[in-house]
Amino acid sequence: MSKLVIVGTVAFDAIETPFGKTDKILGGAATYIGLAASQFKVDGAIVSIVGGDFPKEDLKMLEENGMDITGLEVVEDGKTFFWSGKYHNDMNTRDTLITDLNVLADFNPQVPQKYRDAEVVMLGNLHPLVQLGVIEQMDAPKLIVLDTMNFWMDSALNELMQVIAKVDVVTINDEEARQLSGEYSLVKAAQKIREMGPNYVVIKKGEHGALLFDDDDVFFAPAMPLREVFDPTGAGDTFAGGFTGYLARTGDYSYDNMKNAVINGSALASFCVEKFGPERLLNLTNSEVHQRIQQFKSLTQFDIKLT
Ligand code: AMP
Repeated sequence: MSKLVIVGTVAFDAIETPFGKTDKILGGAATYIGLAASQFKVDGAIVSIVGGDFPKEDLKMLEENGMDITGLEVVEDGKTFFWSGKYHNDMNTRDTLITDLNVLADFNPQVPQKYRDAEVVMLGNLHPLVQLGVIEQMDAPKLIVLDTMNFWMDSALNELMQVIAKVDVVTINDEEARQLSGEYSLVKAAQKIREMGPNYVVIKKGEHGALLFDDDDVFFAPAMPLREVFDPTGAGDTFAGGFTGYLARTGDYSYDNMKNAVINGSALASFCVEKFGPERLLNLTNSEVHQRIQQFKSLTQFDIKLT
C-alpha cells in the first residue's frame, strides 16, 4: 500500500438545495477526499488549514477515519474557509453565493516529513500556487492528480497552467473542461487538456457519469441512478478521494487500473449525494460499497449477439 498526500480545503459550508438548507456544516474538498480515501484504509495525510473556530471533534473525526492531520494547521485567532452555494432545480448546476478565503488567504502548506515520500498526491481544489508548493515538497511521487474549478480559471489561469503541466491526471467537470480548453466537444476538450501536460483526463458529468481519457482511448462510468439526491456538494471530491484512495491501495497506476479507480470513485460519490454534507460517508460500510459496485456492474453489463 502506498502513502497518499491530500491537499485541499477543510471548511464550513452553507448549502441550499431544493430539498432543504443547512447552516454552517463541515465541508471542504480535503474533508470529502480524505473520508472517501479512508474507505481503502490507506495511509493518508491531509495538508490544510483551519481557524480556531473549527470544532476539535471534527479534527478528531478525521483522525479516527485514519487521516494523519499533523499537516493540518490550526490558526487559533483566524477563521475557517467558508463557502456557500445554492443548487438549481436540476441539481446539476449551482451558484456560489459566498467564498470567504479567511485563513486560506495566507496558507503556506507544509507536507509532514513522514509523507514526503508518498507515491500518490491528490491536489484538491485550491489556489494553483498552493498546489504547486505541495508538489515541490514531495520527493518523487508516482502519481499526481489535480482537481480544480472555474474560480481558479477566472482568477489565476497562468498559475493553473503551470501546475497542470506537472501533473499526471486532471479531474474536472464538463463545464470547466469546456472553459479551460475553449472546446465544446468533451473529446476535443480532453485532448487539449492532455496537451497541457497530464497523460490522463477525467471529465465528471455529475448525474451523467464520468469519462476517463487516455491517449486514444476513452472509458465511461455511469453515475448510479438514485431514488433520492439531497445534496451534490462534495461529489467531485468524493470521486477524487475514491479514485486516488483505490490507486494508492493497489499501487498500480496503469490505465486499466484507473478504470477500476473511476468505478470506485463513482460508487463512493453516489453515496455522498444521498445526505447533506459528508454525513453519508461517515459510517459507510465496506459491504455497502461492494454492493453498490455490483450494481454498477449490472447497470452496464449486457450480452449482445451481433447479427
Ligand atoms: P464539489 O462539490 O466537489 O465542487 O466540492 C465542494 C467543496 O469545495 C465544498 O465543501 C467547499 O468547501 C469547497 N470549495 C468551494 N469553493 C472552493 C474554492 N474556491 N476553493 C477550494 N475549495 C472550495
